[in-house]
Amino acid sequence: YKRIVVKVGTSTLTHPSGKLNLLRIERLAMVLSDLANQGRDIVLVTSGAIGVGMGKLGFEERPTDIALKQALAAVGQGMLMQIYEKMFSEFGRVVAQILITKEDIFFEDRNKNAMNTFNELLRHGIIPIVNENDTIATDEIKIGDNDVLSAYVAKLLNADLLIILSDIDGLYDKDPIFKDAKLISRVTNIDEKVKGISKGSNTNLGTGGMRTKINAAQITMESGIAMVIANGNRPDNIYDILEGKDIGTLFK
Ligand code: ADP
Repeated sequence: YKRIVVKVGTSTLTHPSGKLNLLRIERLAMVLSDLANQGRDIVLVTSGAIGVGMGKLGFEERPTDIALKQALAAVGQGMLMQIYEKMFSEFGRVVAQILITKEDIFFEDRNKNAMNTFNELLRHGIIPIVNENDTIATDEIKIGDNDVLSAYVAKLLNADLLIILSDIDGLYDKDPIFKDAKLISRVTNIDEKVKGISKGSNTNLGTGGMRTKINAAQITMESGIAMVIANGNRPDNIYDILEGKDIGTLFK
């Protein structure tokens, strides 16, 4: 796996209070920098702007008002980049912010442009940090969630692997609120059954739940890109995935 896209969710980056989980972010930065040191191309797709904005301004519930959410994202995005910049520079890595819109993915000329920028950054050993530009975009023109965004980025860049880090070990055979739910280690085909067991998020911070991750898997599988959902509570899981250990859920 030479070219890897890693997506982290809000729940991986923040404590339940919405404040940043600094230890987690630092470890993630270390692991990704180390993989870059091995000569791999690493792209990080990050959620968390709204969550971080909420923490900063003392909001406990995710607001429903769109302008307020976008304002929180505008506050949070800068803070998020500042902390990534600090953490990655500890390990000698330069990062770059890429805020992407639907047009950058779906319109051919812009899509080429985006691809060229990514490739140029990667050629210089820089880790692009990607988020949807959702401070201005309204719902109708948005991709809508970073799970699907990360799959499009993986496809755009012809990546070898997409790793989605979440607050759960992977896809379970039923909603994990049920105690007897079991982890599925491999999915070879997205059928109605897989879609049926993939529910929304049970947490206050996460947004898409499993449903959007399955939508992402559909995109990567069609493009012949492997995808793994794993727990983000231990960023070293990324090493285990690359070593082929049975961790999380592999979609291939
Ligand atoms: P993130 O912020 O990491 O993207 P989400 O909360 O959006 O996290 O998504 C993960 C959540 O999806 C889990 O914590 C769980 O509540 C929910 N979920 C729904 N159905 C399933 C399933 N079949 N297997 C695993 N998780 C599921």
